[in-house]
Amino acid sequence: MRPYPPQDLATFSEIEMADRFVPAFDLRDWIVETFVSEDSELFNADHAHLRDASLGVLWTNCDNGRNMRSVIGQAELMPPTAMGKWQKARAAQQVEEWFGEVPDFLLTFSAPAAHGMDDASFCALVEHELYHCGQALDMFGMPKFRKDGSPVFAIKGHDVEEFVGVVARYGAKAAGVEQMVEAANRRPLIGEASIAGVCGTCRREAA
Ligand SMILES: [Zn+2]
Repeated sequence: MRPYPPQDLATFSEIEMADRFVPAFDLRDWIVETFVSEDSELFNADHAHLRDASLGVLWTNCDNGRNMRSVIGQAELMPPTAMGKWQKARAAQQVEEWFGEVPDFLLTFSAPAAHGMDDASFCALVEHELYHCGQALDMFGMPKFRKDGSPVFAIKGHDVEEFVGVVARYGAKAAGVEQMVEAANRRPLIGEASIAGVCGTCRREAA
């Protein structure tokens, strides 16, 4: 049922296909239908603000390993920031050519890692990245909106409350937070996930 990466991206060994990034529209639609749509069995109210967000999703076979740990997913706020003006404009153009617009968030997943993951682990990875796709807070700590009523989005780091959701749904290993034993003692709603790699946004184990 879940979308898998194209076969030619599923391994690191295809030299002529090295370091590719390919838009994954089927994966994006599946993510929204599975975790953001209220009528889904796996709906998670923690992602409710993403109903108003546009997501761009990429598969990559670019090996992003460090210290024997591979990055398998990453979440970024768009448009691209923290670069020179030309680099930023060029990166924005690339994203727009992929998706027809610059989305609010860009999610990138390792195709070789996803290819070998069981469903629960892949769901845990996707939700780990979705938890980074947050709504900014105003000076009173309330969700922040633009004048037109749309949410102001922001990348969120980890704190205990945000990741209680991951522990409850996938078990403590998926969140990499051992002290969350209370949530972990509950039976995972979806299934126990195992750790295969880290997230490029926070460098934590992601599923
Ligand atoms: Zn992360």
